[in-house]
Amino acid sequence: MHHVLIIDDSSFVLNVVEKALTKEIAQLTVHKAKSLFEANALLKTNTYHAAIVDINLPDSNQGEAIDVVLLKNIPAIILTANIDESIRKIVLEKNIVGFVAKSDPNNISYVASLTKRVLNNYNTTVLVVDDFKSSRSFIAKQLKKLHLNVLEASSALEAIEILKCHENTISMVLTDYEMPDMNGLEFTFYLRQNYRKDSLGVIAISATEEIGLSTQFLKYGANDFLHKPFTIEELTVRVNSNLELLEMFHEKKELASRDFLSGLYNRRYFIEHGHLIVKKMIRNEFPVAVAIIDIDHFKRINDTYGHDVGDLAIQATANMLEGCLRKSDLLARYGGEEFCMMMENLTLEQVEHVTEKIRHQFEQFRFKLPTDTLTFTVSIGVYYGKSGSLESMITVADEALYTAKDTGRNKVVITSPTL
Ligand code: GH3
Ligand code: MG
Ligand code: MG
Ligand code: MG
Repeated sequence: MHHVLIIDDSSFVLNVVEKALTKEIAQLTVHKAKSLFEANALLKTNTYHAAIVDINLPDSNQGEAIDVVLLKNIPAIILTANIDESIRKIVLEKNIVGFVAKSDPNNISYVASLTKRVLNNYNTTVLVVDDFKSSRSFIAKQLKKLHLNVLEASSALEAIEILKCHENTISMVLTDYEMPDMNGLEFTFYLRQNYRKDSLGVIAISATEEIGLSTQFLKYGANDFLHKPFTIEELTVRVNSNLELLEMFHEKKELASRDFLSGLYNRRYFIEHGHLIVKKMIRNEFPVAVAIIDIDHFKRINDTYGHDVGDLAIQATANMLEGCLRKSDLLARYGGEEFCMMMENLTLEQVEHVTEKIRHQFEQFRFKLPTDTLTFTVSIGVYYGKSGSLESMITVADEALYTAKDTGRNKVVITSPTL
C-alpha cells in the first residue's frame, strides 16, 4: 500500500489531484492538508512515500512545506500557480522530483503519472556505466533524487558482471560512449545479444561530436540517446519516460501471459518458460517433473450445476494448486479443466509426495454452493526425468494421465522413462 500526502489550500485542487491519483495508482491511501499546520500534524503521525506540495499556503508562502517534506526524505512534487525561473531554481537546489503548473487542468494527470513514477521507482534499479568517476557520480546522484536504486560500474566489463549477478532486477543501463576496453557502442551491442529491448532499457550518453553517433547507438539497440551537456530536467524526463515505456511493455506482456478466468499463467507462457527450464535441466543435468492435472468428470459439474459453477470450480482448483506449490514451480491453466505444472530440484519421492498431496487435498475439498456441497476429484499424469524436449515430456505426462483416467480416476500416475 502506498501513502501519499497532498498539501494545498484549495479544496478543489485537493479533490481533483486525489481523484487523478486514485484513478492512476492502485493500492493507494491519500491524506490531504490545507495548511502547513495541518501538514505538520499529519507528518508527525504518518509516513508517506510521496507528497504533492503547493508552494503558497495561507500560513507559509515561501515553500516552507516543501522543506518539511524533504526533511523527512519524502519525494516531493511541487504545485505552483505558474512556473518561472525562480521556481526552476528551487527545484534544482532542492531534492525535488518535479514541478507542475496547476493553471492547466491537463497538468493534473501529469502529477498523477509523476507520482506513480516515483512510487514505482522505489522498486526500480538502474545501472550507470562510466569510466569517469565524477560524471558517473553526478548522474547517479540525480537518479537517486528520483528515488531509484542506483548501481555504478566504471567499465562495461564490470557492468556485465553486475548484470549477471542481478539477473532481471536491473531495468535500465545508462552508458557512456568513450570507455577503455569496451566502448559504449560495443557494450550496447553486447547487451542486445543478451537482453531484449523491452526488458532492459539502454540510454547512451556522450559528449562527442562524432556525426551519426546517436543514430549508430539507436541502430545497435539503445532505447535513447542523451547528448552532453544536458539539463537535469532532460535527464529526469528521458529516464522517467523510458522507464514508463518499459513498464507498459511489461504490463502488456503480463496480460498476454495470463489466463483470464483463473489468473494463472496460460499455455503460451507455460511453453515459453518450460523451454527455458528444460534448457537449464540439460545444462545442469538435473531432473524435472511435468504434471498434468485434470478435473474428473468435469462435464457433469457443468451439466448438474451450470457453467457458472463450473467456472468457480476452475477458479477454486487454480487457488488450491497455487497453494500447493513453491514459488519456483511453474503452474499454468493448460486448457479447459486441465492444469500443467513444472517442478525442478525434486527427487522422485518428493514428486510422488507432492502430487499425492494434491490429489488428496482435492478429495477432501468441500465446495459450498447455496443449496448444495460440491465435491470433485482430479487425476494427475506426471513425467519425471532429465531427457527429451518439453513437448515429449508433456506427451509422456498426458499418456500417464490417460492411464490414471482409464484405471479409475482420482489417481496419480508417474512415468520416469530415464530413471
Ligand atoms: P474426464 O474425467 O475424462 O476428464 O471427464 P471430463 O468431463 O472432465 O472431461 P471432458 O473433456 O469430457 O469435458 C471437459 C469439459 O470442460 C467440457 C467443457 O465444456 C468444459 N470446459 C472447458 N473449459 C471450461 C470453462 O472455462 N468453464 C466451464 N464451466 N467449463 C469448461
Ligand atoms: Mg568515458
Ligand atoms: Mg476432465
Ligand atoms: Mg480434459
